[in-house]
Amino acid sequence: MAAYRGRFAPSPTGPLHAGSLVAALASWLDARARGGVWLVRIEDVDTPRCLPGMDQIILQQLARCGLVSDEPVVWQSRRGDMYQQALDRLVQQGHAYPCGCSRKDIEAALQSQGMGRERHHIAVYPGTCRPERGGLQGKPARAWRLQIPDTPDVAWTDRRLGPQTQNVATKVGDFVLKRADGLWAYQLAVVVDDAAQGITHVVRGQDLADNTARQILLQRALGLPTPAYLHTPLVLGANGEKLSKQNGAQPLDLSDPITALSQAANVLGLHSTTTHPALALDSWTSVWDQQWIQRKGGAA
Ligand code: GLU
Repeated sequence: MAAYRGRFAPSPTGPLHAGSLVAALASWLDARARGGVWLVRIEDVDTPRCLPGMDQIILQQLARCGLVSDEPVVWQSRRGDMYQQALDRLVQQGHAYPCGCSRKDIEAALQSQGMGRERHHIAVYPGTCRPERGGLQGKPARAWRLQIPDTPDVAWTDRRLGPQTQNVATKVGDFVLKRADGLWAYQLAVVVDDAAQGITHVVRGQDLADNTARQILLQRALGLPTPAYLHTPLVLGANGEKLSKQNGAQPLDLSDPITALSQAANVLGLHSTTTHPALALDSWTSVWDQQWIQRKGGAA
């Protein structure tokens, strides 16, 4: 395997937009600047959110921009066996356990402990079904969770954001690996695939930085290596939030790839006057090292 292996891992929930192209371009440039391999992986495990045919649209959009996977594209929806094997291993080794709690049960348990929701969407799981607390106690298994270890502080260094730490126990709790609806959780699928594909460098949008500590804990539990991480600047929508379909992100205009690419490059501090995507990509590759590898001083 090449010394450097990177990837872009879009979820086919909508077409690429100005924000997602930044992550795609940055991951491609980082791989090219280091003579590495760049892969595309379609992250379609959350099937209710995926739109039929969107994977092909994304691949076409990337190709129009000159970004083509160096190896066959991988679809997560076809890799359930690998995720199941990983889950089985985690359970056998005492790192994961079945959970019979509904959302209501979790809310009620948190309230009875005087704890509200920690964040907007994720309630920190109170550990009701942990094996040491008696496990399922007759309830049917709904979901499967990672048992956060007793030393839950995870420290890691992002090449752009610098040193990061997160106490996964207090911020997230025992997070879900397989959901109550039978679908694989992003955290498990991404960790298994990054390792299976030999990914050495993860370059993705800053909105995902918050997941990294969880992924590192999972890598440790599965005995997998931890890649180097770079989280790229976000493109903000008119409401100041991350650009997304929900706040009006427009799909990329495929008739004019150089404009879309140049806008993404600008977010990364790169400029070019050429009107041909391939030439622009070459020129950005040659300055990427100074801009994002040397200058940031990372040993990534
Ligand atoms: N599939 C995720 C997304 O589209 C990205 C996952 C990753 O790069 O780790 O937001």
